[in-house]
Amino acid sequence: MLKRLSFLSILLILVPVIRAQQPPALDGLKHEAVEETDKLQTFTQQMVDQIFSFSELGFQEVETSKYVTGILEKNGFKIEKGIAGIPTSWVASYGSGKPVIAFITDEDCIPRASQKPGVAYHDPIIEGAPGHGEGHNSGMAVNVTAALVLKKQMEKYHLTGTIKLFPGIAEELVATKAFYVRVGYFKDVDIVLGSHVSNDFSTSYSTGKGTWSGLVSIQYFFHGKAAHAAMAPWDGRSALDAVELMDVSWDFNREHLRTAQRSLRVIINGGDQPNVVPSEAAVWYYFREMDYPHIRSLYELGNTVADSAAKSTGTTVDHKLVGAAWPPFFNKVIAEAQQKNIESAGMPAWTDADQTLAKALQKEIGAKVEGLKLKVEPLEEPAKTLSGGGSDDVGDISWNVPMVYLMFPANIPNLPGHSWPNAVAMATPIAHKGSTAGAKVQALTALDFLLQPQLVTQAWDYFRNVQSKDVHYESFLAPTDQPAIELNKEKMQKFTPDLKHFYFDPSKYKPTSNSSASPTQPSAPIRNRCASLVIRISRLRDRSCGLSLIAPCQMNDPFVTPPSRRREEHAGWKPALQMNRPLALPRCDSWI
Ligand SMILES: [Zn+2]
Repeated sequence: MLKRLSFLSILLILVPVIRAQQPPALDGLKHEAVEETDKLQTFTQQMVDQIFSFSELGFQEVETSKYVTGILEKNGFKIEKGIAGIPTSWVASYGSGKPVIAFITDEDCIPRASQKPGVAYHDPIIEGAPGHGEGHNSGMAVNVTAALVLKKQMEKYHLTGTIKLFPGIAEELVATKAFYVRVGYFKDVDIVLGSHVSNDFSTSYSTGKGTWSGLVSIQYFFHGKAAHAAMAPWDGRSALDAVELMDVSWDFNREHLRTAQRSLRVIINGGDQPNVVPSEAAVWYYFREMDYPHIRSLYELGNTVADSAAKSTGTTVDHKLVGAAWPPFFNKVIAEAQQKNIESAGMPAWTDADQTLAKALQKEIGAKVEGLKLKVEPLEEPAKTLSGGGSDDVGDISWNVPMVYLMFPANIPNLPGHSWPNAVAMATPIAHKGSTAGAKVQALTALDFLLQPQLVTQAWDYFRNVQSKDVHYESFLAPTDQPAIELNKEKMQKFTPDLKHFYFDPSKYKPTSNSSASPTQPSAPIRNRCASLVIRISRLRDRSCGLSLIAPCQMNDPFVTPPSRRREEHAGWKPALQMNRPLALPRCDSWI
């Protein structure tokens, strides 16, 4: 009897233990994932600010890649570096077996978009330097936060599946993802969850709003013959003439192109000085259209026009394909699951200070003044008419694996894009809170597919029987095309020494009260002198109370003055100066 009792009592003790090791139902896991993501708010904020401070252009994401892979490696992810022949690229993975869920997001920035965060008018950190004027500093914080939350749950409940993370290297040059696909990095992947900064919280499927284009990015290098431009011009052949002739010739062609096309160009070499006939000149085109056949046809027309210009001017021309992208096409099954998660995560709780910064910037640049969005977007039917617009080289991935692109609300509406206004909010609480919201949706959507294999099957059914029914993926890349990894090298060599003075050092700022300890991070890579930036921003306040300034006041924004200093500086604030910048801002003393 005693023996039986003790056996029973052991069983009674064990049953709850055995039960505790079982994963909770999907809803329970999701609830836990949201809580875990909230606990990582400080970690997410630090990643957003750290990558913002690196400010690295495409193919030169050296510090960013070192930093992100350092975090992932120290948290148990397996890292492969330099993938597809791209030195700053990598793939990280955790777990084993199916399904394989890949996260992807960009991390490069924009030329000349340097901007002090939280300052609602143009004020570069370093004049002429690159900056996060697209907001690509936030996506990696979203994906890594979600991946760490998932990893914790997979460990705890022994969930089967593999999480992979990819960086969007040189996305602004649409220059890498077709190479990832060519090497076969997505062959074993079941679904792809991309994330991208936005001012709204949304997802879409199929062609979405019809505002995506695909493109080929190509540089034409013309070679002529140098000569004294005044004494013996007849002995020379001008490569610049060829560039100009090509551009004029292309513009005559525009009249006969479809209205959906967008062809853009910059002259990347126009010669050296007027008294030397330019022996070298080059022009860079983006040929955008709505589908593979039309993009290919624009690309071929561009080649013909370049070759003709060379013939007409007695020069020669080399073509170098720099990047290419299919127009993205997103998966309905994943988008529908993701939409529910967007609705459950909801918009971040914006404060008055967040709204004030948003409205101040909108007013400053002459945009519609309406602040930050308050509601998530509905999942809409895809647009019937395709107008075209921007591109993203995730397009190539989306034609190889079922994929969606989460737009998370980390920026201010009505901004021009690809310029300094888009950097203003990107290291303030607007970006921090938007990134936390995005991380929740990434984690929740991954859980949907980790725990419901039938959803993976349905996503592939849509991919095969709807999306790819009549369209066959074919890469724009020729076998000889290679990633243009030399791009932006000189620009970054010029600015990196100065940028290093402003690299963010999280150890200098107190975590927010509602956040727990961060996951393992590598130590700050480079000496930090963020304080000098703080002082510079503070000086601005003396000038205009610029108020900028607002958003940083509410939490541990890295680039702002600690409260004690703020108080001193505001003591010297001169109300009359506010007249210079009639922003819709509260009096300083109402928020300090
Ligand atoms: Zn982007």
